[in-house]
Amino acid sequence: MSCMSYGYIIVKDNAKWRREHIVIMEHSIGRKLNKNEIVHHINGNKTDNRIVNLQLMTKGEHITLHNFAREYKHKADDETIQNLYAEEYSGRQIASILKIGKSTVLNCIQRLGVSRNNFGIRNENGKFAERKAVI
Ligand SMILES: [Zn+2]
Repeated sequence: MSCMSYGYIIVKDNAKWRREHIVIMEHSIGRKLNKNEIVHHINGNKTDNRIVNLQLMTKGEHITLHNFAREYKHKADDETIQNLYAEEYSGRQIASILKIGKSTVLNCIQRLGVSRNNFGIRNENGKFAERKAVI
């Protein structure tokens, strides 16, 4: 069973919703990702989770590769913040990428109830069931 969340395919893995590309990479390398690692989609298609399209890199390398600072200039809207948070960038990193204050990022995440640990699981108000903003 799979669903979509923030443009990514999510799957049930040990009873938890997780992004499929991360599960596939973890199976491939035989360990969990560490906190500083991210799985990049080489051809830019976030739903193409073939292992040949996935590249393991550090979050720092990923920010440089995408040139997020340029890509997201003047786009510090809720959706962009949600997407970056879902990609597991810290509040500090998101603030730096978007050139906005960390409190703006924190407010957005808390207001929307975004959770990294509850992808796709929303309550009746359309918010994520569990609030867990870690900044
Ligand atoms: Zn990427």
